[in-house]
Amino acid sequence: MNIGILGAGQLGSMLAEEGIDLGHHFFFYSDELSTPAEKYGEVFNKKRLDEFKNKISLATYETENTSLGLISEIEKSAEIFPPKKILSIAQNRGFEKALFNDLNIPCANSVIVRSVEELRSAVDQIGLPSILKTTTDGYDGKGQFFIRNESEIQKAWESLSTSEAILEGFVNFNRELSIIGVRGLSGEQVFYPLVENIHKDGILRITIAPAKKISNETQRLAEDYITKIFDSTNHIGALTVELFETNDGLLVNEIAPRVHNSGHWTINGCTTSQFENHIRAISGMPLGSINVKSNWCAMINIIGKVGNIQQFADKQNLFINLYGKAERENRKIGHINVVAESEKDLNKLLESLSDYYPLDCWKN
Ligand code: ATP
Ligand code: MG
Repeated sequence: MNIGILGAGQLGSMLAEEGIDLGHHFFFYSDELSTPAEKYGEVFNKKRLDEFKNKISLATYETENTSLGLISEIEKSAEIFPPKKILSIAQNRGFEKALFNDLNIPCANSVIVRSVEELRSAVDQIGLPSILKTTTDGYDGKGQFFIRNESEIQKAWESLSTSEAILEGFVNFNRELSIIGVRGLSGEQVFYPLVENIHKDGILRITIAPAKKISNETQRLAEDYITKIFDSTNHIGALTVELFETNDGLLVNEIAPRVHNSGHWTINGCTTSQFENHIRAISGMPLGSINVKSNWCAMINIIGKVGNIQQFADKQNLFINLYGKAERENRKIGHINVVAESEKDLNKLLESLSDYYPLDCWKN
């Protein structure tokens, strides 16, 4: 099939890289001049939207910041998955919380606010500490203000410079987890194991897969949450759910109707990666087996600088993926996957990569 991808970054590239092996052809829609995806297919800019549309019969997107207007335009001549409904929910933290509450999926208490006065009464209701987030356009922890005490309310509101925000109760979590599920056109669905995500300053640095000490019951609960979301939105494709693990159980943080950074480990860790399964799902192919190939995997993001990566080139059980992006502070420019049979070997591999994450992210 001729598949269009809205966006031409690393997620689009990895989707195409695996989708080409399934016999598909890829076309990208992006206004960026130089993109990681251009080696996998032609990139069309805004002026060439009609040409892009003529090329494709099916489309998907790599970011939830994709404009709904663009989706409606593409939908006139091609199928697009995941469906617009879930994209519009994932674009707005208020809609997300409403969906979780409707489906009885536990999440942080929250209140929508549209002025500093409303923020003051929301703080009375939710309590402190709490986190004020813009309802739209947030990513990598941007558009958020952590409110510790009442004297910060005015500053919090002003700093977001937005007309609408959501105040969320601060969740005292033990770990951050995520899970990726994929549903195909036939209704078939698969789930990858829960993984642990270690963030620094709002940016994902390390994923450990599977997350340690997860009971079957917890895994099933997380799968249950995804299934409820699949059912209520007629979802097709990959869906990522970010969760907080607390002493009182799992709370859902947010969703992303797409392949996710916390699923990059599946390229080397699973029989079928998140990217291949997403393409299989949206193109009507049977889904591939998840089957985790080794006991432990980890993914380390390469942020800002490539560094002395050559030293790892010949290392066993270590796989480097550079996206071909220029170095820039806080920019995700690649990742390293490691696979290991024992926790001890996993720890050794992670230790050898300590140049790639801040000290307090992970310690053996
Ligand atoms: P990303 O794009 O990286 O997923 P984001 O900008 O969409 O991030 P969130 O995932 O909502 O934003 O928040 C970023 C991080 O901030 C979370 O991973 C978590 O570490 C912290 N955080 C967010 N909300 C809460 C909360 N209610 N309580 C405690 N910590 C929180
Ligand atoms: Mg997040």
